Amino acid sequence: MIESKKLDLLGYTRGQFESLLVELGEKSYRAPQIMKWLHHRYVDDFSQMTDISKSLRTRLAEIAEIHEPEVTAEKRSKDGTRKWLMKSRSGSSVEMVFIPEGPRGTLCVSSQVGCTLDCTFCATGKQGFNSNLTAGEIVGQLRVAQRLLGPDYPDRQRVVTNVVLMGMGEPLLNLDNVIPAVAIMMDDLGYGISKRKVTISTAGVVPGIQRLVETTDASLAISLHAPNDELRNELVPINRKYPIAELLAVCRQYANNLGEKRTVTVEYVLIDKVNDQPEHAAQLIGLLRDFPCKINLIPFNPFPGTSYKTPTRMAVRTFQDKLVDAGYSTMVRTTRGQDIQAACGQLVGEVADRTRRQERYQRIAAGVA
Ligand code: SAH
Repeated sequence: MIESKKLDLLGYTRGQFESLLVELGEKSYRAPQIMKWLHHRYVDDFSQMTDISKSLRTRLAEIAEIHEPEVTAEKRSKDGTRKWLMKSRSGSSVEMVFIPEGPRGTLCVSSQVGCTLDCTFCATGKQGFNSNLTAGEIVGQLRVAQRLLGPDYPDRQRVVTNVVLMGMGEPLLNLDNVIPAVAIMMDDLGYGISKRKVTISTAGVVPGIQRLVETTDASLAISLHAPNDELRNELVPINRKYPIAELLAVCRQYANNLGEKRTVTVEYVLIDKVNDQPEHAAQLIGLLRDFPCKINLIPFNPFPGTSYKTPTRMAVRTFQDKLVDAGYSTMVRTTRGQDIQAACGQLVGEVADRTRRQERYQRIAAGVA
């Protein structure tokens, strides 16, 4: 475990920088200069910040650090998708995925090491939970990607055009770090990604969405996956605490608050014979009536140990057609990077599980517990 008492500057928002500078007896207008060094020029040493006074550089080096997560492995898919394994301060590792699609480049970042939610169809949940990532570690993933991808796309100023918090973890259970991280991603002095192109995805942590209403205007996605509470209680256990009606109500508030015809993305993993039947499509159509959304269907991506199956192409198509006929904008998310286990729900990293869930399962399976 890497312990550091130094300030983690990659996770500092513009406002936090301004306060820090004032505390240090400096002018707050230095904040943009420092942020540009960190997020536009990727320096890792204060001595490189040549337009900042020597005394401030020395002071910063004493109290603060520029800590980017260390990349320990990289995989490239034959479809161009790339996946990196990165070490967090906890000592465990998280995964991050880059998905190029024509002029668009989507980066899927992690917010936690492991996850507490244990959704039945997700590989991350099976490992249990280790720790939250810091704001610097969340922003650091974007910095690493921009830096490493730059040489491959010399004609592009910005390789990553979209960020989705759909990697490992539940972002809304780590909001103290996710909120500043997202602010830095959207700030021109950070990565300048538009608010419509930074998407926070949640399994349905209702109080977290309420907090987001007051703090950000990034896009929101919810992992719905079932059209009724009975089935959702089984697939996404947090539904037992925050049922569908409460979830949709708070999302409506979120979308209304943003105005500008903003919608919430509804994610729906299609699992063969579990939630992909005609009656599920019919229920979904009823449930989402008048709800300001776009629907993303994700054919289930298998991982070792799961008994769920991917539906046939026909079944996916039929489900999509029903929603489209009912007037919903509905996309099927094409599976990318499956040959390197980089698809949705396949990210596992290297997590030392503090809940020791794996061990518990094994003991239960062996009839010891
Ligand atoms: N905890 C957040 C973000 C991580 S999951 C959330 O639940 O939204 C990102 C997306 O991948 C979610 O929609 C999730 O439900 C989906 N997903 C998880 N496992 C999957 C699998 N095996 N196949 C396809 N999609 C999966």
